[in-house]
Amino acid sequence: MSNRNVIVTGGAKGIGKACTEYFLNNGDHVIALDVDQEALNALENPDGRLLGLICDVSKAKEVGQAVQKGIDTFGEIDILVNNAGIQRYSTVTETSEEEWDLVMNVNLKSAFLCAKFAIRSMQKKGKGVVVNVSSVQAFISQERVAPYTTSKTAMLGLTRSIAVDYAPGVRCVAVCPGTVDTPMLRDAIATMENPDAVYQECVNMHLSKRICPPEEVAALVGFLSSDMAGSITGQVFRVDGGLGILCEGN
Ligand code: NAD
Repeated sequence: MSNRNVIVTGGAKGIGKACTEYFLNNGDHVIALDVDQEALNALENPDGRLLGLICDVSKAKEVGQAVQKGIDTFGEIDILVNNAGIQRYSTVTETSEEEWDLVMNVNLKSAFLCAKFAIRSMQKKGKGVVVNVSSVQAFISQERVAPYTTSKTAMLGLTRSIAVDYAPGVRCVAVCPGTVDTPMLRDAIATMENPDAVYQECVNMHLSKRICPPEEVAALVGFLSSDMAGSITGQVFRVDGGLGILCEGN
């Protein structure tokens, strides 16, 4: 199980970067789509198996062109990891229409668009896997995350639909991280009054009493997209250090 062609959205930083590195270390080809040129440039490119492309995955034209460039470079797509996402903090009454659309487009519409183009390619091979990176916030919500929690919950519906519509050739699963140590987390807590205390608060919220490294999410994505997970489709996997059951138990 190597030499596969894998698209990772938001593949230059955080969980996406960990997924990019996981698949490259496995001997696969990776098409990393991101809006951060500097972060794309910083990725290792072993044996020319990485194609880093600037692509706003919320834009159909850009996604179509990027997927085609990936196919032209490496061949038809085997695996799509819909990982790109942004977090914004606001309630329904605080959220502007523009901000709502931005979060829904980057977090949810992107997954639809990338699936649309990548699945067409997978169908030519007769098989493929789509992994959607949702969040534990598809099940539980902190305060002031209205657009984010909505987008992440909707991703689970998209996961079911893809699983049902493209079986048996294409499988689709979702992973739901708790708190993961990435630029998204670090940037968010850096804006708060006492970042160290907030970080510790995050640690304490998890049964694991630690913040998940992005490599552990990538390892789950890697397993779910492998043939060893050939009987798994339409399912949702939490990698949340027990955060979900702790909150639900209260
Ligand atoms: P991150 O901000 O550290 O990295 C996200 C990457 O996506 C960046 O490289 C960024 O440039 C890219 N990106 C943003 N908008 C894009 C766009 N329009 N087109 C293409 N690329 C774009 O985030 P992360 O923490 O690694 O999160 C990755 C995914 O995991 C997100 O979907 C996020 O919602 C989810 N998640 C993260 C956590 C966490 O605690 N970090 C928890 C649960 C779920």
